[in-house]
Amino acid sequence: RRRPDPRGLTVRASFTALLAEASAAGRAVGAFTCYDLEALGAVLRAAEAAAAPAIVLVSKQSFAAADGERLVAALCAAADRSPVPVCVQLDHVADLGLIEAALAAGVGAVMADGSHLPMEENVAFVQAAARLAHARGAGVEAELGGITGDEDVAAAVAAGALTDPDEAVGFVARTGADCLAVSIGNVHGHYREPPALDWARLAAIRARVACPLSLHGASGIPEADVTAAIGHGIAKINVNTELREAYLAATSAGLDAALRGANVLALHAAQTAAVAEVVAEKLRLCTPAG
Ligand code: 13P
Repeated sequence: RRRPDPRGLTVRASFTALLAEASAAGRAVGAFTCYDLEALGAVLRAAEAAAAPAIVLVSKQSFAAADGERLVAALCAAADRSPVPVCVQLDHVADLGLIEAALAAGVGAVMADGSHLPMEENVAFVQAAARLAHARGAGVEAELGGITGDEDVAAAVAAGALTDPDEAVGFVARTGADCLAVSIGNVHGHYREPPALDWARLAAIRARVACPLSLHGASGIPEADVTAAIGHGIAKINVNTELREAYLAATSAGLDAALRGANVLALHAAQTAAVAEVVAEKLRLCTPAG
């Protein structure tokens, strides 16, 4: 529980503290991409009902869009008024300018994704991102190996380069990353083949890397595998595609009725309820003991 600050707001949740607490308790923090305040409301509602913390992800494309900075400012303001700890994170950016802008807009974490770069360039990029983030008390997540798939548009893809445990040890030590996204057979979007996560690789990374680990691409991973991943030390579970699918299905199902009454509120309520249901399921998996 956070104490109210002098302005009556709750104190902003720290990315590193959320992940450290989850790691120590054998849990994971659910991280959910939000494109608008309806999705954010769904995450806050489900997190509050589960008495669980949450991370709100903003995709690079939404932040880089015309109203992206205002969206992040609104998400941060709403997160600060949440009864459970919520941290807003800019997801997957390879651009220090965007990272600086997001930190200025108030995010509590950034994902500095230099996974497509040669090793030394990835190290230098994450080091620079960590300097910017840590100067503002924010956290930085990095990626090693390549998690394939588009972050905003789902397509069926095969897994990319897997994270090398030996490389990961030195990478985390040199960069000062607060969280490492692992590539162990996980992809963004839809799985071309049924997901086959490399448990031995995850165990080897977990045994040797000092910081918390994240699992991206949790949409479409069977429940038992998400639970097993947390059992293997994953402390952050990233979900987007299943939320977009639920949001769009609710939009489609509710559109005719909403059009008849020009009823935007009813459509928003349906979108929020649909997304909240998926978030609640994932949050349940984040606390394996129940
Ligand atoms: P999915 O869209 O596959 O759930 O992945 C989300 C994610 O990893 C965001 O970083």
